[in-house]
Amino acid sequence: MDKKWEHIYGPVPSRRLGLSLGIDLVPYKTCNFDCIYCQLGRTKEKTVERKGYISAGTILKNLFLALETVTKPDFLTLAGSGEPTLNSEIDIIISEIKKKTDIPVAVLTNGSLLSEFEVRKALLKADVVLPSLDAGDETTFIKINRPHESIHLEQIIGGMTAFRQDFEGAIWLEVFCVDGINTSDKQLQGLKEAIERIRPDKIQLNTAVRPPAESSVRAVDDETLGKICALLGSKCEVIVKRDFHIEGRDSIIDPDSIMAILSRRPCTLSDLTGALNTSPNHILKTISDLLEKGTIRSYFQNRELFYTKAS
Ligand code: SF4
Repeated sequence: MDKKWEHIYGPVPSRRLGLSLGIDLVPYKTCNFDCIYCQLGRTKEKTVERKGYISAGTILKNLFLALETVTKPDFLTLAGSGEPTLNSEIDIIISEIKKKTDIPVAVLTNGSLLSEFEVRKALLKADVVLPSLDAGDETTFIKINRPHESIHLEQIIGGMTAFRQDFEGAIWLEVFCVDGINTSDKQLQGLKEAIERIRPDKIQLNTAVRPPAESSVRAVDDETLGKICALLGSKCEVIVKRDFHIEGRDSIIDPDSIMAILSRRPCTLSDLTGALNTSPNHILKTISDLLEKGTIRSYFQNRELFYTKAS
């Protein structure tokens, strides 16, 4: 991107959302949690106040200016450096985006405010909601997410469950695993039961790879992540952004290999990594180049993002 627009960043290749244009809805570290693994550092003052931290008008103006020049992204992603649902104008922002563009809208959220009817109603217009859930019991929840004192886990699980009943889009639930904090058999069993109530379309496992808020936070190893994935069932996948080394495949995949597959059928990122025996990190850069050149296009269908050869 040649020019920077305030509150807009990217587009950047994302493991979960393909080529994602980020939209920051709140000022730095405006959050009702203080997660021990947060990459933004500590939350100085937790807040539960919903207000127009950044006006819908400002955000929309900058977004539509940015869209005139950037490569068309796979998703417009409402996220940023805090909890985006704290912005009380999020409903206007999503509605206006949906009126003016066909690019799917994703919302990255800690999920805590899904307990509020107004927030659930606002997010109904999104295409994908990506909430977090790191614990199935209150003690672990407090330990890992360090929420505002007025927030309790059961309200969140209830809110996510209610949202699932009304929301027709996709819910991709992220679980952040921290070694020794939320990974005992008992804790994982509680988490599994909570997830069964919520019924997300996907469960995406992550762990610490970048410097977190607390230096004591330890990543979970691949073998343990594999076991947790198996426990949480067939909808679960590992999305850790490590630089995987796969024998014979330690570099970026070339465009011809990707086009050979996409010429035959549309594929998700996961289809491509399977077919090419590689990791998403080795594909995403080539995909974003192909999108930029107009050689391929993306579309969101049946709650999945697909890539196909441009006609
Ligand atoms: S919810 Fe997100 S922004 Fe808030 S503390 Fe946790 S990781 Fe950081």
